[in-house]
Amino acid sequence: PTTKKKNFSGIKERTLVAVKPDGVQRRLIGEVIKRFEQRGFRLVGLKMLQASDKLLAQHYVSLQRKPFYSSLLYYMTSGPIVAMVWEGHNVVRSSRMLVGSTDPAEAAPGTIRGDFSVHISRNVVHASDSVEGAEREISLWFHRSELIDWEGCDHKNIYHI
Ligand code: UDP
Repeated sequence: PTTKKKNFSGIKERTLVAVKPDGVQRRLIGEVIKRFEQRGFRLVGLKMLQASDKLLAQHYVSLQRKPFYSSLLYYMTSGPIVAMVWEGHNVVRSSRMLVGSTDPAEAAPGTIRGDFSVHISRNVVHASDSVEGAEREISLWFHRSELIDWEGCDHKNIYHI
């Protein structure tokens, strides 16, 4: 008998999602987690931290020359952040859809930013914008030992494998 090869490709994709200080202050941690969980993604890392200037300078290295850079760092260090790593098929692209456009005025209703924010400088949540960016950001925010590899018992219902 031939054994059918299971196709796990892409299921292990990971992304960094963070509830920013305004989201934490506004008690939106559970709301953000809920939206990723109910979609079928797997939480593989989670922590609350007060981010340092050094970490944020690395995280936002590509924005260093933007006029809003110093106010962005001030905002991001103004209180605790909840950083998470989510895993699943196309999770990077899907997370950007769940989170919505950078400017809440452009973010569709039903997205996190579209439902919970009005101003671009207080947009509640971060999600990596590419697979390479996600790998870079995950390694900045998490040590490998903080990420847990586990398989959900609902795997067969979420994926066609
Ligand atoms: N930001 C801002 N003013 C701007 C553009 C961006 O304050 O005009 C902030 C905003 O919090 C945004 C973050 O900088 O989420 C990073 O900007 P990026 O363009 O990377 O957007 P994102 O990937 O977060 O959607």
